[in-house]
Amino acid sequence: MRKIILGFVGLVVVIAVGGLVALRTSAGLQDKLFERGLAARMASLAVPINEGSLYVFICGAGSPMPDPARASACTAIIAGGDLYLVDIGPGSAKVLQSSGLDLSRLKGVLFTHYHSDHIGDLGEIAMQSWAAGRKGPLPVYGPKGVEDVATGFALAYHLDEGYRIAHHGADHMAPGSLQMAAQEIDEASFELGSVLVTPIEVNHDPIRPAYGYRFDFAGRSVVVSGDTVPSDHLMQIGAGADVLVHEALSRELVQKIADQLRVNGNERLSDMLADTLDYHTSPVEAAEMANGMGVKLLVLSHIVPPIANPVMERIYLRGVKNIRTNGVVLARDGMLFELPQGSDEVKGP
Ligand SMILES: [Zn+2]
Ligand SMILES: [Zn+2]
Repeated sequence: MRKIILGFVGLVVVIAVGGLVALRTSAGLQDKLFERGLAARMASLAVPINEGSLYVFICGAGSPMPDPARASACTAIIAGGDLYLVDIGPGSAKVLQSSGLDLSRLKGVLFTHYHSDHIGDLGEIAMQSWAAGRKGPLPVYGPKGVEDVATGFALAYHLDEGYRIAHHGADHMAPGSLQMAAQEIDEASFELGSVLVTPIEVNHDPIRPAYGYRFDFAGRSVVVSGDTVPSDHLMQIGAGADVLVHEALSRELVQKIADQLRVNGNERLSDMLADTLDYHTSPVEAAEMANGMGVKLLVLSHIVPPIANPVMERIYLRGVKNIRTNGVVLARDGMLFELPQGSDEVKGP
């Protein structure tokens, strides 16, 4: 019996070694494996979108601080099959490109404010959505200043617009699609396709104005806070929404990092980091906001500082469970939530 087992193990080893040698030397086998993997990958990549549902996709759950797991601020809203982006921070265009979402459906970008961690990938997403088949100037909405930001990016990318048309032809790359149609907003609600958008002025002093947004579609609703301290106004306008995507900064963690920078002799950076403590919301305060609005799900996003390990995650979420036992998610890039029409359900990842 022992001999049989040993013989069987030996055979498996010979086959495995033979397979590895063939994999390293056989071009035909390499090609076959790659082609199979490619077909499977392409088939699984496309995200099926139900046009009757409202969706929230996290395309950037991070902040200006470098975080390998999270791009800077970006929340995508999909309604009636159309794609809208609330902010498009650095790194988020790549998250969207690898998401499997059809970027040709992009119908507009809505800015909360113009800190660099919210605007840095506007040119890239205009470019990538154009490559995916979007046609015509990209609508860009935001408070005062939107014209400068949008036309600035369009100017920076206009040479590349010419290169792409010259290379791929105007049939594939519709001319004018790296232009931006900037539209300044105030607090008046407006319709984008079949979604009702309500801008909400929040408090991110000294940045004025700064907005959050509420989206209503087919009886379902999502609020995105933008950058803000806890805001009664946001709570009032957001009341009764299904999902709240709220920024959250851990003052304990940021304070500890600022203290260590001071110990290390970097007083300038320590002071600048400490400056961020008074214009954001803590995870516990975000949980209080969620309870005040009566939302079903709170998604903590714009996470500061980057959470590098489970110990930091514990400190970051400390006290949240005391306020809200259920319905809290720590955002990661690539999370997709579906809010089907005619139900209370929020389907998570
Ligand atoms: Zn900001
Ligand atoms: Zn920010």
